[in-house]
Amino acid sequence: MMLTLEEALERMMDKIHPLGTEEVSINEADGRVISKALQAGISLPRWDNSSMDGYALQATDVAGTSSSNPVKLKCLGEIPAGSTSNVKVTSGNCLRIFTGSPMPEGADAVVMQEDTSKDPENPGDILVKDAVRPFENVRFRGEDIKEGNPICEPGTRLSPFHVALAAATGTDRCQVHRRPKVGILATGSELCEPGKPLTDGGIYESNRVLIQSLVKRAGCDPVVYPIVKDTLEATCEALSKAAEACDAIVTSGGVSVGDYDFIKPAIESLGGVIDFWRIRIKPGKPLVFGDIQSKPLFGLPGNPVSATVTFTILVHPALIRLGGEKAFTNSITRGVLSETLENPGDRRLYVRMQQDAEGKLSKSGTNQASHALKSLAASDGLVAVPEASKLEAGEEVSLVLWPRLP
Ligand code: AMP
Ligand code: MG
Repeated sequence: MMLTLEEALERMMDKIHPLGTEEVSINEADGRVISKALQAGISLPRWDNSSMDGYALQATDVAGTSSSNPVKLKCLGEIPAGSTSNVKVTSGNCLRIFTGSPMPEGADAVVMQEDTSKDPENPGDILVKDAVRPFENVRFRGEDIKEGNPICEPGTRLSPFHVALAAATGTDRCQVHRRPKVGILATGSELCEPGKPLTDGGIYESNRVLIQSLVKRAGCDPVVYPIVKDTLEATCEALSKAAEACDAIVTSGGVSVGDYDFIKPAIESLGGVIDFWRIRIKPGKPLVFGDIQSKPLFGLPGNPVSATVTFTILVHPALIRLGGEKAFTNSITRGVLSETLENPGDRRLYVRMQQDAEGKLSKSGTNQASHALKSLAASDGLVAVPEASKLEAGEEVSLVLWPRLP
């Protein structure tokens, strides 16, 4: 039986469980998925403080002030960054203050430096040339985040900004999910290493570099294995090695019905489970999902485009979940079709598309066959055309974007 994409995804997600955890320094936390909620260690700002370089004062002292009618205040001292002051500001006095410095007791506002000048007759005095409202240019303790409040929930992939927020509240270490190690195997007796001479009947192997990059974009660490010949023995040996060392395995090739397709027989002979094989999508029908030694295995078809499509819509979300991230959907953008896309077949068709500066979508190449790499290279993502249907030129549709590095 052939599963729909949705059925296949649901079955896969049910079987994928987030990996265990480790502690990392906040310096290495960007892009990691936290397993324990991050909370603010202190309130931010730590105290009421100034948002300007200027003078802390009492707003009532300078009410009605203007440049033609300045108010003179006595400056009692200064509060540079990194210091506090015990001096209390009373009526008629002020303290020189700098951005971020704590507000001194007694002051309720800051006049910016640009609205003041030193009194030429007495440089210890300040002439204030503009009025300020109470609390003007004052940032309040805890107005950004309060001590103990959540920074982000478990299952969140940390951005540079989460990391900065956590560091600003004093966090130096955090609990994260282990980054999945994903073994990458390419099967095919025709495959030759780029840089080496081609054998008779040989082609260059290109899926491992492709999958390696896609694996990184799913937040995982790739482990690349040597090319595997099309024999049951070689396939079993390679798969069991990868299952031993990695958290998941992605293979390419060897999943069709040919006499030299050994992925499924190898899973079975290693005592693994084949959960499903074949999905109602084009390209990518013969995807295999199973496990060996309880490590999930994704058997991608060998044609590079089939491998890319199945990886993006099925394996990418599964690896993201393995890495502990909670909510995930492929990134999507909307665009208007500049040409009609037809799918007379009985499987959902994924068409490689490019989007122009105005957002219009067109095929990224006329050759949309599953081996055609050039139209893949020119594409920004995929448009799905349901089975036995047509998307008309001028229609607005969703473009599933190729994943980026997290
Ligand atoms: P398969 O799924 O093994 O039947 O392979 C389908 C097609 O993809 C064949 O033409 C293979 O030669 C080609 N192919 C398989 N694996 C790779 C690979 N790693 N790099 C480039 N082409 C491949
Ligand atoms: Mg093959």
